[in-house]
Amino acid sequence: MRIVLAGGSGFLGSHLTDAIIARGDNVVVVDNYITGSPVNLEHLRDHDAFELIEADICGEFSVDGDVDAVMNLASPASPKDYYEFPIETLDVGSIGTRNLLELARAKDATFFMASTSEVYGDPFVHPQTEDYWGNVNPIGKRSMYDEAKRFSEALTFAYHRKYDVPIRVVRIFNTYGPRMQPDDGRVVSNFITQALRGEALTIYGDGSQTRSFCYVEDEVRGFLALLDSDETGPINIGNPGEFTMLELADLVTELTGNAAGIVHEPLPSDDPKQRKPDITQAREKLGWEPTIDLRIGLERTIPHFAKVLGF
Ligand code: NAD
Ligand code: UDP
Repeated sequence: MRIVLAGGSGFLGSHLTDAIIARGDNVVVVDNYITGSPVNLEHLRDHDAFELIEADICGEFSVDGDVDAVMNLASPASPKDYYEFPIETLDVGSIGTRNLLELARAKDATFFMASTSEVYGDPFVHPQTEDYWGNVNPIGKRSMYDEAKRFSEALTFAYHRKYDVPIRVVRIFNTYGPRMQPDDGRVVSNFITQALRGEALTIYGDGSQTRSFCYVEDEVRGFLALLDSDETGPINIGNPGEFTMLELADLVTELTGNAAGIVHEPLPSDDPKQRKPDITQAREKLGWEPTIDLRIGLERTIPHFAKVLGF
């Protein structure tokens, strides 16, 4: 296959690029580096199966030759990033996604959309099943991200219904691992960075809110299982192990031996109180489930942060 991958220089995109090449396929990454980094793909620069186009998918860009799949991972993804780039986030979810759908349509290619558990908002249904429509504040602090992704899903299904574009929609739950940016503001990055520096871990609110953390290798394997299937989705891909932020802080503290403890800071508005994927569909339709639990995943991730931070 020859796969166009928008957002391939980011955290998830760079691991996906590696996985695509490892299985013998070719990849054309399109990225404007708004939140990603060329360093993530530096090791592939001279690889025959790798091409790179530096471009904003909201603007003009072209891809020559045959394409079998167009995968859209382009978007600021951490709350800190989409607070900083609200308009760019809405643009990439709407204009950028439409440009990629047009590319898929022109090339007779399958379109893969990286959506998110954020489409469920602050959910009333727990764990979240794909048939839940969500509880999203349309004008809240996270709305530029949540609504952009909801619009992307709607646009993807509209192209499927109107133009028969084959589609795959994945709803990604919190994923972590090597190549996360230490300053991306996400909880795993913050806690590990703080612990390695001997600082107190910042718990927003009382720390009773939950998240379910999937190791990046498992997540990317799920993307490819969906791409290779005949399922349109949306399908949840995430690790159903559910942790409070206090539990996560305890685990990071234990694994790093940090003695500085925790401090509480204000909870941002609209912060979902609980999140856990129901992965019945992924298990039954894709034969996929995660294999790496949080402790093992963190043990693999902490050395990456230590290296980047110079410890
Ligand atoms: P990331 O910020 O590391 O990667 C996103 C990449 O997209 C970056 O390389 C960025 O430069 C690129 N990009 C953004 N706008 C662009 C544009 N207009 N044109 C070209 N490139 C553009 O984030 P990530 O964590 O790797 O997330 C990848 C995708 O997965 C995102 O779409 C995100 O919404 C989704 N997702 C991630 C998670 C997670 O836990 N990491 C959870 C849910 C959904
Ligand atoms: N969080 C925290 N301390 C931090 C960063 C985040 O307690 O230093 C909390 C945040 O309020 C949220 C959870 O951790 O409840 C996950 O936050 P993250 O930004 O990683 O992802 P998202 O909110 O998008 O799931």
